[in-house]
Amino acid sequence: MSVDTVIAGGTLVTASGTREGALAIDDGEIVGVGDEAALPEGDEHIDATGDLVMPGIVDPHVHIGDHVSIDSYETATRAAALGGVTTVIDFAWQAYAGDESPWDEPAPLLDGVEEKRANEAEALIDFGLHGGILREDDDLFEEMGDVVEAGITSFKMYTAYDYGLSNGFMGRVFEHLADHGAVGLVHSEDDSVCEARVEDLRAAGRDEPEAYPESRPDYAEAMAAEDAVRLASEAGAKYYGIHTTARASAEVMDRFREDGSRVRAETCVHYTTLDDAVYAEQGNLPKIAPPIRAPDDVEAMFEYLRRGVLSVVSTDHVASKRADKTDRPWWEGPFGANGIQRSLPVFHDEAVSERGLSYPFLVRVMSANPAETFGMPRKGTLDPGTDADIVVFDPDATHTITADENASRADYSIYEGRGVTGRVRKTFVRGELVADDGAIVADPGHGEFLERSIPAWET
Ligand SMILES: [Zn+2]
Repeated sequence: MSVDTVIAGGTLVTASGTREGALAIDDGEIVGVGDEAALPEGDEHIDATGDLVMPGIVDPHVHIGDHVSIDSYETATRAAALGGVTTVIDFAWQAYAGDESPWDEPAPLLDGVEEKRANEAEALIDFGLHGGILREDDDLFEEMGDVVEAGITSFKMYTAYDYGLSNGFMGRVFEHLADHGAVGLVHSEDDSVCEARVEDLRAAGRDEPEAYPESRPDYAEAMAAEDAVRLASEAGAKYYGIHTTARASAEVMDRFREDGSRVRAETCVHYTTLDDAVYAEQGNLPKIAPPIRAPDDVEAMFEYLRRGVLSVVSTDHVASKRADKTDRPWWEGPFGANGIQRSLPVFHDEAVSERGLSYPFLVRVMSANPAETFGMPRKGTLDPGTDADIVVFDPDATHTITADENASRADYSIYEGRGVTGRVRKTFVRGELVADDGAIVADPGHGEFLERSIPAWET
């Protein structure tokens, strides 16, 4: 008896530990873990000597192929595969009407789900969807059960921008989420504080990129997080704070966790590896909301990651062109930065090589925790019977990042010129090799839409 593939000679890393050993893969699943001698022969034998063999990266916060990102599913998932990412969660949007809306008229969230699901034809890796709530209308509550049934078990709300929700409506959403057991994700920044800061800085002629972070201060993030997490807790809903950037807002989440409420949160790779000096160095390229913060906030991200208050590291990948980011003042340019192709090497370099955190920590925050948090029991693990989503990673290889290697349509990198330790050698999605030493070796369409289950959040 033989299996499709055996990966041997490397160090297996899971959320709970490391061991020398081999993996057997058959029919897209992991079918054996242990000493190579005890496993069946593989038709394909991969020598992973000197490499880490880990569950593929699960990035629960990306923007692909819609009004905020110029990537197609093909380009974004190629970038992901090259970066060792095997699952992403993108957004299905509830269309709204408005001056800045990309839609002509409001439409149900289920329409947005259908539209995004069609990207299966182009995707190279697996993807799930969060429901994106963009307007205050009770029609959402009528369709919420069907949306959850379709495998969209988490919903995103904004407190800022023209589609930001009032606290009153957000409270209602949390009550309905609690009924369904679904997760509420909140982009928390107090809108009126940010608007006033932008106005004041513009009036003062502060058009230099260094002024941008002052326009969306850490306390505005903490204020909105405080309101949102309190509403979620009152409703008994699961709360997931997305892109936490600051000590001030992490402290809020920490406090509510101690109250026994169900509060989880992520930060992003850029908030752990860059500080606000980037605005002098790179101009408007790193215009991201919330902004990249002060060095002490970077330290805070690691303090709260170590303690588990922050339990996930994502990218918030958004693709845009350098020209669109840089040919206008900071208050007019698009938000967001691309990062999915570099998240593993950049975060590995900072967290493991520089700060001495462990490989299992890396697997927890980039793979196991996001899979468990968002109801994907077949992902983020090397357990037999789960999907053979595997990254073979050389932790000692060095590499200098350049946007010339971007698979994304974005033509810049906020990590340009950064020397990192750690390189993705091979990426498998459900047993199929999709990226091999920097080249894409599978066809678009291998990726599947993931119907996620209701997560338990028992711990
Ligand atoms: Zn985002």
